[in-house]
Amino acid sequence: MSARGNLFIVSAPSGAGKSSLISALLKDKPSDMQVSVSHTTRKPRPGEVNGQHYHFVSVEEFKALIADEAFFEWAEVFGNYYGTSRTVIEQTLANGIDVFLDIDWQGAEQAKKLMPDAIGVFILPPSRAELERRLTGRGQDSQEVIDGRMAEAVSEMSHYKDADYIIVNDDFDVALGDLCAIIRSQRSTCASQIHTHNDMINDLLAD
Ligand code: GDP
Ligand code: ADP
Ligand code: 5GP
Repeated sequence: MSARGNLFIVSAPSGAGKSSLISALLKDKPSDMQVSVSHTTRKPRPGEVNGQHYHFVSVEEFKALIADEAFFEWAEVFGNYYGTSRTVIEQTLANGIDVFLDIDWQGAEQAKKLMPDAIGVFILPPSRAELERRLTGRGQDSQEVIDGRMAEAVSEMSHYKDADYIIVNDDFDVALGDLCAIIRSQRSTCASQIHTHNDMINDLLAD
C-alpha cells in the first residue's frame, strides 16, 4: 500500500503569487501531487473555468454544503465564501498523492488544527509596492477589489509566523525552487522514507 500523501497548506496575501507558484509546480501534471479545487461564491474572472480554477456556486449552494459537512475547512474572504472539499482531499491523501491547498490564513489555521502533520507554507511578496503592482498587473480585478485586497494585506501577512516555512516570492524561479525544496525535504523525512522504501529497507536489513 502506498504511504499517505502530504498535505501542503499554501497561504499568502492576495497577489503574492501562490496560484502562479502552484500552477508552475503542477504544469507537467506530476502523478504524485494535486491542487485542491475550492468551492467559492465569488464570480469567475475572465478565463476562469468552473471545476478547474474553482467550483463556482451560489451562496445557497455553499450554505447547503456547509450543512452537509462537505467542507474540510471554509472561510469568508473578501466578502465571498471559500471552502475545501473534505472527501476530495481525504481520498487523494489516502491514495498517496500530495495535496496543495491555496487558502487564506483562516483556512490554514483550521486545516492545521484538523491535520497537525500538514505543512504550512507562507508566501510573502518582496515589498508592499510590488504586491500592489502584481495585483494591478494581474488585470483581473476592479480597482475597488484591488484596494480592498491591499487593505487586508497587512493583517493577512501578520499570520506568517503560523507557517512551518516562508518563501519570499521575489524572483519567481528562486521561489519555485524553494517550494520544490520544501516538498523534497518533507518527502525525505525518516517516516516518509520508511513508507516509500519499505521493501528495499527490509531487503537491506535481511539476515
Ligand atoms: P487569489 O488567490 O488571492 O488570487 O484570490 P482568490 O479569489 O483565488 O482567493 C481568495 C482568498 O481565498 C485567498 O486568500 C485564498 O487563499 C483563499 N482561498 C481559496 N481557496 C480557499 C479554500 O479552499 N479555503 C480557504 N480557507 N481559503 C481559500
Ligand atoms: P495569488 O494567487 O497569491 O493571488 P497570483 O499567482 O495570481 O497571486 O500572482 C499575482 C500576479 O503576480 C500574477 O499576475 C502573477 O503573474 C504575478 N507574479 C507572481 N509571482 C511573481 C514574481 N515572482 N515576479 C513578478 N510577478 C509575479
Ligand atoms: P481569489 O478570489 O483571488 O481567487 O482568492 C482570494 C483568496 O481566497 C486567496 O487568498 C485564496 O487563497 C483564498 N481561497 C481560495 N479558496 C479558498 C478556500 O477554499 N478556502 C479558504 N479559506 N480560502 C480560499
